[in-house]
Amino acid sequence: MSRSFDVVVIGAGPAGYIAAIRASQHGMSVACIDEWQNRDGKNAFGGTCLNAGCIPSKALLESSELFHRANHEFSKHGIKVPEVSVDVPKMQKRRASIVRQLTGGIAGLFKAANVEGLVGHGKLLADQKVEFTPVDGDVEVLDTKYVVLATGSTPIELDIAPFDDENIVDSWGALEFDAVPERLGVVGAGVIGLELGSVWGRLGAEVVVLEAMDDFLFMTDHDVAKIAAKAFKKQGMDINLGARLTSANSATGKVTVNYDDSEGGQSIEVDKLVVAVGRRPFSDNLLADDAGIELDERGFIVVDNECRTGVKNVFAVGDCVRGPMLAHKGSEEGVMVADLITGEVAEINYAMIPSVIYTAPEIAWVGKTEAEARADGRVIKTGSFPFAASGRAKAMEQTDGMVKIIAADDDDAVLGVHIIGPMAGELISEAVLAMEFQASTEDIQRTIHAHPSLAEAIHEAALAVDNKALNFPNR
Ligand code: FAD
Ligand code: NAD
Repeated sequence: MSRSFDVVVIGAGPAGYIAAIRASQHGMSVACIDEWQNRDGKNAFGGTCLNAGCIPSKALLESSELFHRANHEFSKHGIKVPEVSVDVPKMQKRRASIVRQLTGGIAGLFKAANVEGLVGHGKLLADQKVEFTPVDGDVEVLDTKYVVLATGSTPIELDIAPFDDENIVDSWGALEFDAVPERLGVVGAGVIGLELGSVWGRLGAEVVVLEAMDDFLFMTDHDVAKIAAKAFKKQGMDINLGARLTSANSATGKVTVNYDDSEGGQSIEVDKLVVAVGRRPFSDNLLADDAGIELDERGFIVVDNECRTGVKNVFAVGDCVRGPMLAHKGSEEGVMVADLITGEVAEINYAMIPSVIYTAPEIAWVGKTEAEARADGRVIKTGSFPFAASGRAKAMEQTDGMVKIIAADDDDAVLGVHIIGPMAGELISEAVLAMEFQASTEDIQRTIHAHPSLAEAIHEAALAVDNKALNFPNR
């Protein structure tokens, strides 16, 4: 007899495992199927985020930043250290251990929530049935009332620079280098390129980034992108804009990288090349021919605002559907879908999803950029406050960057908040909360912020919107 569940989730990344846990909190019987296999051959829940994305990258960003600060900042604090060196295998062991703890934690959460974690491949059949092919064992068809597809995404591979898992690698490969490459090439100055370029650059690699677009960080506010470009240049990152990759070849053991820029064909040689030109939705062997699910021209599962596919009682969440490929976006979709299934009212405010780039300085934003707000036709006012004028940032020796707030001139509504500087990824939550509750800049101006804190920069930027900054000269 086949097993039956109220909900079957396919994929246990941050979108799927959260959907499963939330559904079980509603008293439903839930199974969550996942096939992720790490390079040691072991299966693990957590998807890209925990195994090969958010968490391992942040572990290495932290380690490499500490190394950088020990080399370049400690002396300013009057701390003398003998020569500082890097033990990459140990750094990688720490990274792997954090990943293991967190992915093991999901197995624990499933157990506590009574979610049946199933290791293997899931495939959606017609009529609310899911075929489960375990890693070891026989194929089983599960009956279910609801299905949540949460199969995530995978790196885009270019025909002109195929991955060889040794010298031409994707982001996962670049997280697992066992030594610092002398010269690292990065294709794509997007989020991954900048984060991983920072990791290996801080550890001593010479980093050359090739970016096809002419604008740097086109998705961020223009003022933020300008500060970021200057900071990365100072750190030694060689970012080439308008540089379109034409081919890469690793036959010699080194990688020859050919690209076109405004001056014609160029060629460089690097020890390793990371290709980080975006990710594509993953739905390989997910859908039976008669499952009825529609994919768009880029392979995303088509859903409405409530993540409903066109098939009754089948939802899809996370990177495999439209919207930013961010873990917190997927998790919130997972929560929404589980709440909708149980009959609750639930929705996501897609305009209020924060973005963070975990470089140093860190970059975070929510809402509109100045250019987007102007393009909307609204009359706007802006205010900014530099971390150079923040006592806390000075004490931390991290004064690069600023907070910029964009507000509507008529009703004072906060339209966008852009932060580049220390702990931007933490600070942005205040802005998200303020905007979610439709705060005006006056509301932020009248909110008491602890002193000395980095968050005071948000307070001062709100004051600056009305030329009332207290700790920085107004325009
Ligand atoms: P995934 O995490 O990709 O999980 C999908 C899971 O489904 C996988 O385990 C997969 O094996 C499984 N699966 C797929 N098909 C099947 C099937 N048919 N049967 C069984 N299982 C299946 N986002 C952030 O918000 N912050 C960050 O700091 C951040 N850093 C990143 C750094 C890197 C290097 C990368 C690559 C990504 C980063 N991201 C970050 C993006 C983030 O990882 C993704 O947005 C997030 O993991 C998407 O979650 P998901 O659950 O939709 O998919
Ligand atoms: P991305 O879309 O951020 O950047 C890809 C870059 O590659 C773009 O700037 C693009 O212009 C460039 N590019 C494309 N083709 C090129 C070519 N042939 N030559 C040169 N440049 C080229 O994608 P990504 O950095 O691969 O990241 C993928 C996803 O993962 C992102 O959507 C992001 O949301 C997510 N992610 C998030 C975080 C975070 O939240 N901190 C970290 C890492 C990844």
